[in-house]
Amino acid sequence: MKPKSNSHEPSTTAAVEDVLNKLFLQAKTQFGNAIQSFWFYDGDLCPGCMQRSIKAIKFKGQDALSLNAFIYREGGVLIGYFLCEDCAKYIFRAARMNHYIQTPLHATIEKNLIAAYSSQPPKHLI
Ligand SMILES: [Zn+2]
Repeated sequence: MKPKSNSHEPSTTAAVEDVLNKLFLQAKTQFGNAIQSFWFYDGDLCPGCMQRSIKAIKFKGQDALSLNAFIYREGGVLIGYFLCEDCAKYIFRAARMNHYIQTPLHATIEKNLIAAYSSQPPKHLI
């Protein structure tokens, strides 16, 4: 992945790529051929609200980016993405109250990510 000129520091980008590579390998192990490739959403706007920009958020006293991923089965692709602070907090709270349940926000995020994925050539990290 070629980092765009955005707020991510090079070290952060490398750390993120490391996490993403692990996620990809983990998903590949779990889902096998259902996942053919990996794509990372690096748009400027949060795919949850499409309004706020994505930046580091405070998580348990440390800077953290809300790294997430979901499997777009029809495309055979694992899509990684960040959320803005508000959406990340919403998802985080929902997950704490009801583990692994899909919220309406998840559906919105997935719709926006699939649209973004379909509208530009895939970028393969691996
Ligand atoms: Zn958002």
